[in-house]
Amino acid sequence: MKKALIIGAGLSGLTAARILAEHGFLVTVLEKRDHIGGNVYDYFENDILVHKYGPHLFHTRQKEIADFIQRFSEFFPYEHRVLGEIKDKLVPIPFNFKSIDLLFPAEEAEHLKEVLTRAYPDGGSVPIMELREHPDTKVKELAEFVFQNVFCGYTKKQWGKTPEEMDSSVMGRVPVRMSYDDRYFTDEFQMMPVEGYTAMLRNMAEHENISIRYCCDALRHLGIVGEKLYFDKELCDYPVIYTGCVEDLLGAKFGRLPYRSLRFEAEHKNVTQAQPVVQVNYPNCYSYTRTSEFKLVQKKEVPGRTIVIYEYPLPCKEGDIPYYPAESEESREIYNRYRTELKRLPNLYLLGRLAEYKYYNMDMAISQALMLARSLTEKEDFVDAEAVWTAE
Ligand code: UDP
Repeated sequence: MKKALIIGAGLSGLTAARILAEHGFLVTVLEKRDHIGGNVYDYFENDILVHKYGPHLFHTRQKEIADFIQRFSEFFPYEHRVLGEIKDKLVPIPFNFKSIDLLFPAEEAEHLKEVLTRAYPDGGSVPIMELREHPDTKVKELAEFVFQNVFCGYTKKQWGKTPEEMDSSVMGRVPVRMSYDDRYFTDEFQMMPVEGYTAMLRNMAEHENISIRYCCDALRHLGIVGEKLYFDKELCDYPVIYTGCVEDLLGAKFGRLPYRSLRFEAEHKNVTQAQPVVQVNYPNCYSYTRTSEFKLVQKKEVPGRTIVIYEYPLPCKEGDIPYYPAESEESREIYNRYRTELKRLPNLYLLGRLAEYKYYNMDMAISQALMLARSLTEKEDFVDAEAVWTAE
């Protein structure tokens, strides 16, 4: 039987594991934490859903990805809506016509919407950095308002940088809408797993060819000598998929890559619902960026109590959990040095947000994993071997 080793039991690692297992590979997954799911991990605390590592809302344009995950869980349609506290009001984010109505006197709001409709007759979404460059003075003025009130404070907290210092793709994730569409995402498929992501991933990993070993730091076992990869001094002559921080594979010899980390604080409240929507953003006040009440996403009703999670961004120091790769020209250059050096290992594959150092959404992570696993199933040159690790 062919075999494969996967480092990391998150969304990327398990998607790859599943595909390989279905194609007859004996797959061992090594996971540092004591649970499945990586940062997608969620759990129920007295019947209330908690996303332990921050809000994860599933959305995709690709039917294939939606179909794939629905093999492992029942889903229900859910369109995420976010409010942001701006000028003491809660207004929809992405900033849209409804936000204008709520923030400006009626006559001015009508005028602003007219100006925007003239500038963008087809509606749609415009990245804030692009809107700021618009030739019309009135459009530019509004863009500046949105920039200052929605993006500057939040981005400073989230990344420790100004929006100008960020890669434009990051600001582009939350564009300005030239319509009343107040959904956070516009993808065709938007849905949440009925029992949560952890249950979904458990089902994904439930295959006779997959074994997961928890609390196992693979880096203590892996060794690189020349072009060869070893596990406890035994040659790995099978594919090894790595989903952790890439620099850890090489002892951070080119320096640590920058990431952003998060700290979460939970507040238990004796009310059925604490905030009007699942997520409220605070671009201009407090040191947290947003509060999430995941309970509002779950199916089961729990009267009289709820949990609100406050999210505090942090620089990622040694030992902290990396959540976001802080992509920049400089960090990408460092990343490429690692990647180039690791390319000499023909059976090592880097996969996921951390190993590929890309700000992937869940669907992109799945898509990459599907692609990699499928390409491996088409390779013929991996020798058959018996598994050397078993689940504990
Ligand atoms: N952002 C912002 N204000 C907001 C929401 C987002 O400035 O109210 C910026 C911020 O820089 C953030 C980026 O847009 O990091 C992407 O936001 P998104 O909600 O996609 O972040 P995620 O949910 O991935 O943390």
